[in-house]
Amino acid sequence: MTATLVDSHCHLHMLEPGTDHPEPYLDMAARQGVGHFLTVSVDLDSFPGLLKLAENYPQVSTSVGVHPCGKHLRMVSPAQLAAMADHPKVLAIGETGLDYLCIAGPEDHEWQHQRFRDQIRAARLAEKPLIIHSRQAPEDTARILREEGADSVGGIIHCFTENWKSACAFMDLGFHISLSGILTFQGAGKLRKVAKRLPRESLLVETDCPYLAPAPYRGRQNQPAFVREVAACLAEVRGEALEGVAEYTTDNFYRLFPAARHFQAL
Ligand SMILES: [Zn+2]
Ligand SMILES: [Zn+2]
Repeated sequence: MTATLVDSHCHLHMLEPGTDHPEPYLDMAARQGVGHFLTVSVDLDSFPGLLKLAENYPQVSTSVGVHPCGKHLRMVSPAQLAAMADHPKVLAIGETGLDYLCIAGPEDHEWQHQRFRDQIRAARLAEKPLIIHSRQAPEDTARILREEGADSVGGIIHCFTENWKSACAFMDLGFHISLSGILTFQGAGKLRKVAKRLPRESLLVETDCPYLAPAPYRGRQNQPAFVREVAACLAEVRGEALEGVAEYTTDNFYRLFPAARHFQAL
């Protein structure tokens, strides 16, 4: 395996056993050709630890943001969040977005929407792309992105599971579509049909580890090395070579985050 892959969305700090020293995972991934890891923030309290990982390992970068399922998590103003992102290894704001599976009722829409809007504003202030988590809320996600002018920063719809129409709405706003291990699941026929049609220049691959281990590792802890299985599945679905998928998904990542190409040399 010589192809270079990027895991565009992982949570290194959630891997067990504890990952103050994630070398075993990074090494296993390197043996599968994975050359870069974007470890994504879900809350502000763990952000300093993520930043430390990104500073310690040239092949790791990070983001800063608050997950839409974290109603009780600490949040700051858009300006303060933008200031936290003012570091070369903080590539993006997020993960933020909407998740209608983790709200108790309609009254919860309001705080999710407001927090999402605040993080889009932070991304615009910081002039950095967004990492979007959207579950069972494709229309509202696209509408709020549009209303807040998120097309000026772009970003990634991570762990994409929606239909073709939603994919088009996100791509029209300049967002990339990132596919996870869900693509390999038995019941994911519809998603595979969408994945087959998506334009090359919009595609990324991710693990979202420690969640969502792809086949044949379902039920186990997911890890960055398994992004190769996601890319292999995508290649099969599209009738392309794994090497080709690895090449264009990696090129897409570095086009979105040009600075990341040079981290190895820092
Ligand atoms: Zn997510
Ligand atoms: Zn995530």
